[in-house]
Amino acid sequence: MTDYRTLWADLGMDLERHDQLLDVLSQGYSQIFLSQSNRPEGMKYFDFVVSEAHGLRIQELADHRKNGGTVVGAFCVFVPEDIVLAAGGIPIGLCAGAEFPIPDSEGLIPRNTCPLIRATLGFKMSRVCPYMQMSNFLVGETTCDGKKKMYEVLNEYHPTYVMEVPQKKTQAARNLFLSEITAFKDKMEAESGKKITAEGLAAATSKVEAKKQALRRLHGIRAADPVPISGRDALLASQISFYDDIDRFTAKVNELAGELESRAERGEGVFPKGTPRILLVGTPIPFPDWKIHTIVESAGGVIIGEESCVGSRYYSTTTPSNDGALDGQLQAIADRHLGTHCACFTPNEERVGDIIEMAKALNADGVINYSLAFCQTYAAEAVKMEKALAKEGIPTISLESDFSMNDQGQLSTRVQAFIEMISSRLEVRS
Ligand code: SF4
Ligand code: SF4
Repeated sequence: MTDYRTLWADLGMDLERHDQLLDVLSQGYSQIFLSQSNRPEGMKYFDFVVSEAHGLRIQELADHRKNGGTVVGAFCVFVPEDIVLAAGGIPIGLCAGAEFPIPDSEGLIPRNTCPLIRATLGFKMSRVCPYMQMSNFLVGETTCDGKKKMYEVLNEYHPTYVMEVPQKKTQAARNLFLSEITAFKDKMEAESGKKITAEGLAAATSKVEAKKQALRRLHGIRAADPVPISGRDALLASQISFYDDIDRFTAKVNELAGELESRAERGEGVFPKGTPRILLVGTPIPFPDWKIHTIVESAGGVIIGEESCVGSRYYSTTTPSNDGALDGQLQAIADRHLGTHCACFTPNEERVGDIIEMAKALNADGVINYSLAFCQTYAAEAVKMEKALAKEGIPTISLESDFSMNDQGQLSTRVQAFIEMISSRLEVRS
């Protein structure tokens, strides 16, 4: 086994706490993922990626930087990864889904801030995230107040560039976002010392489109009953999409999707046919947050889709066709991102339609509306979602939680009751 301790030490990491984090992660991973039966063969690659998340991938990024490349850490799907790629950089999604570093944010931001925001700052303060340490700079966005204020603090410890994301979908907002995308292109050119050309950007956008297409293929197969992949494994693929090498990842997702298509044709699944099928909608589910999926799949249900930024809000947006000139491409990228139906927008009616459409396409029997604690925008939209789904006759439950295990018992009880109710409905129907 390769020893990466020198590499981690060079990144200024706290080796002792990092060891503790790796212990927690590997124990959780074995229990949650490796214990599953009848997993697709193709998941072996993703197991390998997780096992080398702090090793081989970090070595790849270190080599990239040694060769003059840039590594850019970001926290939201509004940050255009193709612009980073076009400047010869590597974009890394850094959204933090762990409780471990949260105490390290204490005293820097209020406690009643969303756990994702606290964990993000905590990862910097605790020096246990090699991706953050490796990033030349971080890119934040003004999507919610908690994040905005956290980035001000984060910038004191790691260079953080903030993009302004509009909160309405008007022409003025579109113009504003185009200017922000253009300013980010200029920033990338300045940081990397490389000019972004129309050809380079078109090639980078094609890579991003191919990755999203592969993810759409993978997640689309989850409509089958029995479902050929567990929700946990499908979520893991989405989580890894933010930090793996883009071409390798795309190829491996397509391989996995091919295997799942064959499984679906043979009627082979990981749970029995008729298992209650749950669509999860709401706030992002960043790596390594596997809590709700594990609870649902231990309670007799299966998650068949994620309407989340680690899920459909990422892979469903596509780049509009354009004239191929640099300005036209930048406008298309801005428009692609404004097609993300994030709760930061007002109004955001399209999201209701997305969820109903997704529930139908994936044959969902019920929806879990999930919000991270203190996330006002998604919690507020949960009320609207419940009403809209009730009108469609789709059972819904709203849950709020964080990355800790403190409320696991309580959540399990509520999820179990929800799944039992769905099972009874399914029995009546059959
Ligand atoms: S929920 Fe909104 S703010 Fe959060 S990552 Fe997604 S697009 Fe960005
Ligand atoms: S989950 Fe909500 S509060 Fe947390 S960062 Fe995202 S939008 Fe902000």
